[in-house]
Amino acid sequence: MSDKTGLHLETLAISHGYDPQSGQGAAKPPIYATSTFVYRSAQQAKDIHEAFFDGPESAGARRLAGEPQAYIYGRLGHPNLTMVEARLAALDGAEDSAAFNSGMAAISTILFALLRPGDSLVHSRPFYGGADNLIHNVLSGFGVNAFDFADGLAEVSIQDALDRAAARGPVTVIWIESPANPTAALVDIALVVRLARALGERQGRQPIVAVDNTFLGPLLQSPLAHGADLCMTSLTKYCGGHSDLLAGGVSGSADLIARLKTLRTLKGAHLDAQTAWLLLRSFETLPVRTERACDNALKIATYLRDHPKVRGVTYVGFRDEPAALAVRARQCRGTGSTFSVRLKGGEAECFRMLDRLKVLRLAVSLGGTETLICHPATTTHYAVPRETREASGIDDATLRLSVGLEHPDDLIADLKQALDAA
Ligand code: PLP
Repeated sequence: MSDKTGLHLETLAISHGYDPQSGQGAAKPPIYATSTFVYRSAQQAKDIHEAFFDGPESAGARRLAGEPQAYIYGRLGHPNLTMVEARLAALDGAEDSAAFNSGMAAISTILFALLRPGDSLVHSRPFYGGADNLIHNVLSGFGVNAFDFADGLAEVSIQDALDRAAARGPVTVIWIESPANPTAALVDIALVVRLARALGERQGRQPIVAVDNTFLGPLLQSPLAHGADLCMTSLTKYCGGHSDLLAGGVSGSADLIARLKTLRTLKGAHLDAQTAWLLLRSFETLPVRTERACDNALKIATYLRDHPKVRGVTYVGFRDEPAALAVRARQCRGTGSTFSVRLKGGEAECFRMLDRLKVLRLAVSLGGTETLICHPATTTHYAVPRETREASGIDDATLRLSVGLEHPDDLIADLKQALDAA
């Protein structure tokens, strides 16, 4: 249930953010395929610019009060972007959201907007390779120092990283990915927020706690409700849901999101009208897709766990240590549909199996309607040194699955015939 509207997420996913009266009564939103917007007078053009640059208290904004939202130029904002952002904000329980042309555009905008040379950043591990690369190979060149913690359920591990980071410079951003793939590592968001607030008191400046919510998405996890400042989602994955678009979203307070939108305009990282429209359409089915994908994933993970050629399955739903169970119960409304399986053997066994699959598709990415499988060591994590990769739980026998919406019996039959050859 969303705090603001009193409506359930399933209802908000369908039509929130679009008023048919704004589109000549069209039941579904039009695509505003335009790069620029025409003013009815020079004074209106001035008012719109004043409102955009000087905010809602400006004289221009006051003169425009009561009129439909006005736009300037596509990179600064457009109606389909506004609709997507309103819907994402409602789903994330946020004051506002910003949508970007990829998840990485969202991540890089957050980090470049908030960090300055000499600042420290603390992150959980493992986490998405693109973000890892950006922080350790690009931001490091701008004088940002990064520190990590490996156990996001243990106060001592998180506090140790915060202390090491604070000794080097003010801790400005804490970046969390939970659950993390492929280890199904969980981070206790409320615990990190509590430690961040205490550090903020000591250093006289509050670190921003940002959560990458890609693996569960807005239907299954609401990081802002646990005190996080920003919730980032690669909308390319479950929210887009059909492996046919790239997009990213960030939700949070109006103030923080305004800072991100300013940098987004300068980077040119906004989401275009066609993709925003596709996303609006995808949000409508997100609840049913999420439910079905989670059900399928449980069946597939259970089948694989019991298979004689499988050494183990790393799946959030199988984590049974008390600390993980407590955080999962508090923080997650489901266990998602992306997980890893480790075969007996190594690369040769994995390749033999992959080459026999007929229903599952061999591809990177996740969260689509179709079930995808890949061999991370030779694809997604190809560039990661073996030692680091293995420390993140990826060896030569690891396969990652993103379970989709096919009939589970067909997926199991396909996996069975392929495993027979492994
Ligand atoms: N975060 C996670 C957890 C991801 O898996 C990905 C992409 O795989 C991203 C962020 C980046 O998203 P995008 O590919 O939309 O830039």
